[in-house]
Amino acid sequence: MENNLYDVLVIGAATSGAWFARRMAEKGYKVKVIEKLSREKLGRRLDIFHVAKREFERFGLPVVGEGDAEYAFSFDETLTSSPYNRHPKVTRDTIVGMHMAEYILLMNKYAIEAGAEIEYEAPFKEFIMEEGVIKGVKYAEDKEVFARVVVDCSGVESQPRRALPEGYGVETFEVTPEDKFYVILRYVKFLNEKPALNGWPFYKTWIAPCADPEGAIIGIGACHSYEYAEKIYAQFEQDIEIPPYELTRIERGTTPYTRPPYSFVGNNFIVSGDAACLTKPNNGEGVTSSMVQMEIATEVLDKALKANDTSKEALWEINVEYNKKQGADFASTRAILTKAVNATRDEFELFFEKDIIFNEKFLNGVAEGPEIKMSFADIFAIVKGVLGGLISKRLSFKTIKYLIEGITLGGKLKAHYLAFPKTPATYNEWSVEASDLWNQVGKMK
Ligand SMILES: Cc1cc2nc3c(=O)[nH]c(=O)nc-3n(C[C@H](O)[C@H](O)[C@H](O)COP(=O)(O)OP(=O)(O)OC[C@H]3O[C@@H](n4cnc5c(N)ncnc54)[C@H](O)[C@@H]3O)c2cc1C
Repeated sequence: MENNLYDVLVIGAATSGAWFARRMAEKGYKVKVIEKLSREKLGRRLDIFHVAKREFERFGLPVVGEGDAEYAFSFDETLTSSPYNRHPKVTRDTIVGMHMAEYILLMNKYAIEAGAEIEYEAPFKEFIMEEGVIKGVKYAEDKEVFARVVVDCSGVESQPRRALPEGYGVETFEVTPEDKFYVILRYVKFLNEKPALNGWPFYKTWIAPCADPEGAIIGIGACHSYEYAEKIYAQFEQDIEIPPYELTRIERGTTPYTRPPYSFVGNNFIVSGDAACLTKPNNGEGVTSSMVQMEIATEVLDKALKANDTSKEALWEINVEYNKKQGADFASTRAILTKAVNATRDEFELFFEKDIIFNEKFLNGVAEGPEIKMSFADIFAIVKGVLGGLISKRLSFKTIKYLIEGITLGGKLKAHYLAFPKTPATYNEWSVEASDLWNQVGKMK
């Protein structure tokens, strides 16, 4: 058992698992990762993913550049346009596009160099419990491994989190088809001129670069289903003129589009990454937004391991600090966006024209980080635009009601998450109130 006992067992060796394993190994802990897939198949579900350049230093990520197998491209500026393809807003941020499989292998290499062990083709089966507390896991055919703490980084299916016993302290909900964002990426080659990088939030469609300098990715992300995403894409193609292209291939994938579990911790257990639905509410990206929570988790877990107390109470600070740093802002943005998408095409057009929500400050703020600081002048400008829309009959009462609901619920959720209980003692009351607010927000249209 001695050889088979680890300080930390991570389930999943993709971006979240590899990052967490490396950080804990760097702190001197004995870390093991079990990964369902073979090394060759790891990370192959997507080709390209993006990370903002400033995040590499912030999270100590391996830096890659031209000539490296992991690197695909980078760009500094994108546009966001109205449903009639007007009023473009500029977002400035250097973004690096990378090949996911290659980059994950690089992250695995860094984790191994830091001292972590990674076992591939090693799917989690069930927890090993002693007196109701997690002590390890059974995996693969008939293998067992013991650990002081188990960390679930297994992605959107979140099999380990969902296998937790009832009442363990972390919600075991399934990320249902209604709670996912369905992303379809068309890899294309433009036949004549190449359009500017652009996004059209009304159609949840965008044009991004790809590794081929002659090509691009036309992406669409929508709730409900791939069929629904295709329907919106057909509408986009009808409404927005883009230069002729040749389709080279299509990639599809899902990302969680729902609130995270209220608590990430149980006795000897932490959940992170897509398994904890830590994706950004504005676009479903989740690689670095998960690292915000994991950065806190590594510090809290370090203290807990040193004190030889990895109980739910000892790990609780992860919840409190995460909500302060990102969770409260994400909750608020999710509520506002869920209500704002009820607007019609012409109302979206007005938002762009009058800088209501879709203004450069908001869009750059969303791109940069969780919190968008609004001054009195910003709020006054929004109110003026909304009232103008109402007077000119370009905005309906129904849409204004949705906007007010979204902003009000967003504010209430932010305050509620910032007041997350300092200990588990009053968690139940807190979660009842949080669920009441989320029920009022409802699901994304
Ligand atoms: C089309 C698309 C484009 C995206 N683009 C971006 C982007 O540009 N930037 C961005 O930040 N995010 C992007 N995202 C979101 C991003 O892909 C995820 O948020 C992120 O990859 C989640 O990482 P993860 O490690 O938490 O989970 P995953 O990447 O899902 O990894 C989980 C790992 O756990 C393993 N696993 C699963 N079950 C078990 C088990 N039972 N036992 C052992 N191992 C298991 C899996 O094999 C996998 O390797 C995109 C998503 C999609 C669908």
